[in-house]
Amino acid sequence: MIVILQPNLAHASEEYKAVREYLEHLPDITIREHQEHGKQQVLTEFYLIGNTASLSKADIESLPGVERVVRVSEEYRIIGRHRDDHRPTSFEYNGIIFSQDNLNIFAGLCAVDTPEHVEQMMRALKQHGQQCTRMGAYKPRTNPYSFQGHGRNCLPYVFELAGKYDIKVIAMEITHEDHIDEINAAMEQTGHPTGIMLQIGTRNTQNFELLKTVGRQRTYPVLLKRGFGITLEESINAAEYLASEGNTRIVFGLRGMKTNMGDPHRNFVDFAHVPVVKRLTRMPVCIDPSHSVGTRHADPNGILDVMHVTAQGVIAGANMILVDFHPEPATALVDGPQALTLEELPYFLDDVRIAREAYEARVQRAKEFAAAN
Ligand code: PEP
Ligand code: MN
Repeated sequence: MIVILQPNLAHASEEYKAVREYLEHLPDITIREHQEHGKQQVLTEFYLIGNTASLSKADIESLPGVERVVRVSEEYRIIGRHRDDHRPTSFEYNGIIFSQDNLNIFAGLCAVDTPEHVEQMMRALKQHGQQCTRMGAYKPRTNPYSFQGHGRNCLPYVFELAGKYDIKVIAMEITHEDHIDEINAAMEQTGHPTGIMLQIGTRNTQNFELLKTVGRQRTYPVLLKRGFGITLEESINAAEYLASEGNTRIVFGLRGMKTNMGDPHRNFVDFAHVPVVKRLTRMPVCIDPSHSVGTRHADPNGILDVMHVTAQGVIAGANMILVDFHPEPATALVDGPQALTLEELPYFLDDVRIAREAYEARVQRAKEFAAAN
C-alpha cells in the first residue's frame, strides 16, 4: 500500500507528523518513506510493507495531509503502474525530460578511444541538434586481454568536450561503485559541464550490490539494461532494487536476448517488449539497436538492420535510443562492426523521425477509436 501525501508537505508540519505517527503505530507494518522530486513539487510517499490487507484505505485517506492511498500488488511496488495510480511516468535531469511520452536519442561512441574521435562525434551531434550521447569509459569485455576502456583517464576531456558542444547528458556504463566516485571527481575537476546517466550493463543487471549502491545515490539517473539471459520480470525487479534504495529516475533498456535463435543478429531483438514495460511500469523505455543486431548488414534496399529494428522500437513507442556511432568504425577499439558513421547521422535521425511520426499517428488513431467505442 502506498500513502501519498499532499504535495510539498513539510516534515515540520503537524499533518506530516500526525500521519507518520499513525502509520508507525499500525500493527505488523513497517513503513518506508520515499520522495519524488518533480519539476514543480516534492511528493512524499509512505510504502507500507507487511499485512496491509486488513487496513482500511478510507481511514488512511481521511487523515489530514493524505492525498491518496493506492493498493499495490506485491510486484514492482515503486516503479510499477497500479490501479488508480497517477504517479509520474517521467523525470527531468539536467534540462532533458525523460518520459514515457517522448523520445531522446543517445548516439555516440561505444567506447571512448581518442579525444579527436570524441570531439568529432560531439561536433556532429551539435550540428544535428542533439543534446545527449553515449560514451563508454569502463568497458566490460568477454576477453580479459581486450581493451577495457580508458576509465577515469578519459573522463575530464569527455566532460569538457561535452560542455563545449552543449551535450547535456552522457550515458556511461559503470561496472563498480568506485566508478561513481571517479565520475564525481572528474565532474568536480571540470566544473560540471555536462550530466551523466549511469548505465548498468546487461552483465550486471542482477549485480544486486551494485544496484543498491547506484540506487542510493541521487545525483545521477540510471539506464538499466535488461539482463541478456533472464526473464523480463527478473530484469524489472532489478529496476525495483534501484527504486527501493531511493533512486526512481530510471530508464529501462532493451538490448536483445542472448540465444542462437536470433542468428544472424548478435542478440534476439526484443523490442516487442517496449509496450509491455510501459504497461507494467512507469519507466521510460530505451532500445539499443546496436547491441541487439551487432552488424551492419542491410536489406536489398540498403536499409541497415540496425535502422530497421530502431524503427520497429520507435513505432512501438520507445522513449530513448542508445546507438553506436563512430567517425572511423574500422579503427574503433570496441564494436566497430556495428557502428554507424557520422555521415549516416542525419539519415538515421530522419529515419527515426519518420518512425516517431508514425507512432504518434497510431496513438492519435487509438484515442479516436477509444472515444468512439
Ligand atoms: C554497451 O551499451 O556498451 C553495452 C556493453 O551494452 P550491454 O550491456 O547491453 O551489452
Ligand atoms: Mn558495445
